[in-house]
Amino acid sequence: MKTMTCQQLGGPCDCPHQGTTADAVIKAQDRHLKEMVANGDVTHESASKEMKGRWRSPIKGMGWYRQAKRDFAALPES
Ligand SMILES: [Zn+2]
Repeated sequence: MKTMTCQQLGGPCDCPHQGTTADAVIKAQDRHLKEMVANGDVTHESASKEMKGRWRSPIKGMGWYRQAKRDFAALPES
């Protein structure tokens, strides 16, 4: 199990996401961004838009995704 924060994944807060794979924490961040925006949090709006843009343009998003995977792999197990 590893932990990445919202901030490490391009967001504005230090909310931690735990998962055994990079995909799991990326999905958790995606959910977190949507939830925060749905609750009226404006600080997460730009990160949420960026995340949506990544899914829409896979080639551009892939660089970010690979970097997130590398960052996740470099983290110590907790
Ligand atoms: Zn956040």
